[in-house]
Amino acid sequence: MAKVPRVIVVGGGWGGCAAAAAARKAGAEVVLIERADMLLGTGLVGGIFRNNGRFTASEKMLEMGADIFAVMDRCAIHTNVEFPGHKHASLYSVYKIEPAVREYLTNLGVRILTNARVIDVAKEKDKIVCVVVEKHEPVHGDVFVDATGTSAVPANCTKYGNGCAMCILRCHTSDPE
Ligand SMILES: Cc1cc2nc3c(=O)[nH]c(=O)nc-3n(C[C@H](O)[C@H](O)[C@H](O)COP(=O)(O)OP(=O)(O)OC[C@H]3O[C@@H](n4cnc5c(N)ncnc54)[C@H](O)[C@@H]3O)c2cc1C
Repeated sequence: MAKVPRVIVVGGGWGGCAAAAAARKAGAEVVLIERADMLLGTGLVGGIFRNNGRFTASEKMLEMGADIFAVMDRCAIHTNVEFPGHKHASLYSVYKIEPAVREYLTNLGVRILTNARVIDVAKEKDKIVCVVVEKHEPVHGDVFVDATGTSAVPANCTKYGNGCAMCILRCHTSDPE
């Protein structure tokens, strides 16, 4: 019997959560590693979805089996609202969404590591074999997905003051260094 591949997803924002769900549904063993104490990264701030062309996109994704979109729908506190630049938008509750996504992934069988910052990789010849995680054992795998997002480097607040997206990621509570 073929070996089940082990997929390591680094970064637990929407991108990483969706990648973890897709890999798990495709039959892989999946470990999702997030440096903060909560999943969803910058997705914990706005919560606007299904607006404009993304309504059709959401329906298509659901049709294709990406039921992580249904988790957003279940956590919606407003649907079909309109404000400048946004037509027929839904907004999810940023308080409800993280535990709901965590439960969804856990039920799929994704192993979630939070408070776990990836700081390096280890290679054998030219192949990555594991990620080095601060304050944790190294995590080995066959496939590695970088979903660490596009937010600024840690500790920007200490340099430029509060107000950047890093506050959403609460770097200061999860060690800015
Ligand atoms: C202020 C603001 C408001 C927004 N509002 C909306 C909105 O209303 N609707 C909308 O659709 N989009 C909104 N967006 C955009 C949306 O949030 C992002 O496009 C989306 O969440 C990005 O997801 P991501 O998974 O690619 O990255 P991120 O959300 O950045 O996730 C990356 C994750 O990787 C983790 N990570 C980084 N480095 C490491 C490491 N070394 N080890 C382990 N983990 C690591 C981070 O902690 C983070 O959780 C908003 C963005 C911002 C900044």
